[in-house]
Amino acid sequence: MGRFNQALLGKQAWRIWSRPESLVARVLQGRYFARSSFLDCGTGTRPSFAWRNIIHGWELLKKDLSKEDSIRWSFTKDGTYSTRSGYQFTDALLEFQSQHNQALPPIEKKLWSNIWKIKAPPKIKHFIWRSLAGALAVKERLQTRGIPIDATCLGCGAASESICHVLFHCDKSRQTWELSNVPLPPAGFSRNSVFLNMLHLISVMNNNRLEQKILPPRQIVTLAFDEAEIWIAANSLQAETEQVSSAKAWSKPPVGAFKCNLGTSWINAQSKCGVSWILRDSQGNIISHSRRSYSAVRSKHEASLRALFWAVESMKNMRQNNIIFEVLLFPRPSPNLNWIVAQINALLEHIEFWRLDHVVEERNEAANLIAKSVTTRRKYHSYIASQDPAWLQSLLILEGQSQ
Ligand SMILES: [Zn+2]
Repeated sequence: MGRFNQALLGKQAWRIWSRPESLVARVLQGRYFARSSFLDCGTGTRPSFAWRNIIHGWELLKKDLSKEDSIRWSFTKDGTYSTRSGYQFTDALLEFQSQHNQALPPIEKKLWSNIWKIKAPPKIKHFIWRSLAGALAVKERLQTRGIPIDATCLGCGAASESICHVLFHCDKSRQTWELSNVPLPPAGFSRNSVFLNMLHLISVMNNNRLEQKILPPRQIVTLAFDEAEIWIAANSLQAETEQVSSAKAWSKPPVGAFKCNLGTSWINAQSKCGVSWILRDSQGNIISHSRRSYSAVRSKHEASLRALFWAVESMKNMRQNNIIFEVLLFPRPSPNLNWIVAQINALLEHIEFWRLDHVVEERNEAANLIAKSVTTRRKYHSYIASQDPAWLQSLLILEGQSQ
């Protein structure tokens, strides 16, 4: 719910920003940011409740807009910010990535990728993901984002409202857990580690032991604690990994997500145009890659949409989820290209989590080279392959070593 509100507020902020001539934008500007731009304004001296909320929404949006070269662009027909896609693949991923840039211990990696295997509706998986990434709108989190509120939990008034407290320790949650038939850890839930608690719950859920009763709860608990011990051991041994500067290189997606880089090469409507995609996991391993050539493509925006169509269709056919698509050029919406947009939207319905990001050329080199092989080396045959393209191997190794 909190997240949904944030998405709505983001939309409100977007409206003001993108339509400065609108009445609501002008009223707010006169009152709150007459002498500064919307980007810089604070909450003013006596901000109204609505304005504070809009500022909060704007903070979230601005964070996205300014995040290096990554701009969230929702795939709506008119190219405006959409609540639905803002909600679909939240910035939890990026937030998590920035906190955990170092290599994760194996057990933690396993947990992150296991989230997607839980037999539960996407909503539940998404919720677990966000609770682990620290991206739920509890008071303590809002406070660390600079929102001036009292962090005391309204449920019990006895503790600060953290994610761990709300989910596991607040009076009502404790009662709920007691009444549920979920086997609890014998020593109770951890006081401060959402990770350990989720590890326990996920191992219970993934093994589906509640329904099948294959193992008695005691054994599940033992298993969970074994795993927790391994995690603690792995964590304390974790070496300081050296951070490679990655400003100008391809960057790895977070654990559990995949990155699909798109390439486009277009010269003019008479020449063949090339599109490509490369799908890589969080280790930088190539899952698969593809090239396709098209004739009679009228503009580079159309080429960019063709590339996106081809990539999304391939991902759907491969039943691939959790994808960050990276494109060089955001296709400009135009009425005569709406038919492709509609097709892409229909295909995206089949992908559980996705996001579309803008990427600069230096971060997209391998995909660009594959697309250019159509226009510069006349490689017209289309393919999808899972083996590394031999002629790009050294580049791909280099890209795989970056963050
Ligand atoms: Zn409480």
